Amino acid sequence: MTIQWFPGHMTRARRQIEEKLRLVDAAIELLDARVPHSSRNPMIGRILRGKPRLVVLNKADLADPRSTERWIAAFRDEGHDCIAVDAAGGRGVKEITARVRELVAPQRERMAARGVVKPRAVRALIVGIPNVGKSTLINRLAGRGAAATGDRPGVTKGQQWIKVGGEMELLDTPGILWPKFEDQAVGMRLAVIGSIREEILNLEEVAFFAVKTLAVKYWDAFAQRFGLEGGPPEDVEDPEQVVDVLERIGRKRGCLISGGRVDLEKASGVLLRDLRAGKLGRITLEEPDDSR
Ligand code: GDP
Repeated sequence: MTIQWFPGHMTRARRQIEEKLRLVDAAIELLDARVPHSSRNPMIGRILRGKPRLVVLNKADLADPRSTERWIAAFRDEGHDCIAVDAAGGRGVKEITARVRELVAPQRERMAARGVVKPRAVRALIVGIPNVGKSTLINRLAGRGAAATGDRPGVTKGQQWIKVGGEMELLDTPGILWPKFEDQAVGMRLAVIGSIREEILNLEEVAFFAVKTLAVKYWDAFAQRFGLEGGPPEDVEDPEQVVDVLERIGRKRGCLISGGRVDLEKASGVLLRDLRAGKLGRITLEEPDDSR
């Protein structure tokens, strides 16, 4: 994560995406299945305008499958086809091409009827915020031995098409979007999953947020992973009860400072590292019906 988003960068990113969109039939909006709302660009509707769009929830291997089903239903209600994949492991990735083709079929039939378009592979662009897995997905779709098909007239210099099984062509560079910074909870959720640079964060604050958001919903996973006895916090609005969970984790993991007190920063690091690596199981940080 090296991108620092300032207004100028956002404008430039948006222009770059709009330029690429002119070359494609459809967009693949890539989101993180653990934070589908927080990993979404706030202006995505305006940026993609009417471009046919497939919403893809990536890293589904790390997300709670029940929540992922709810999110898929929510995006479909919103009018966008949506599927869940694991770009790193490959699960679900093959389905993307078929879905994109379905998405653009009506439009292409209309154009074919008017004699406008020659039959050709459908062209698509992947868009998403940093760290959602755009490069991983492009590599996965490209597959072994994939060759870029070379510069074409009308294609910005340097951009190439990657053939995906003869049925789809993908621009080899994704569109990079920014998250919704104005909302502090969005920033915190992105921090919990490790998609915001550590240096600009307070580790304890992020871990506190993680416990507050997840300890009740996923208490069994917390208790099992860290060997915690007793129940979840009764009231997560009470900061002392939230910190108490962190202290219990710290004590179990030997994160202590002089006097036998818990080193909260160390405990926070332990919790976040395990959470991000999926050691607590499959966890989703937000549900479609959360007020936001
Ligand atoms: P980009 O910034 O959007 O291009 O994201 P990358 O493709 O660089 O991926 C960011 C990180 O997420 C890398 O460490 C990937 O290995 C990891 N990653 C990508 N897709 C998946 C996935 O489906 N599951 C898991 N567990 N990790 C993934």
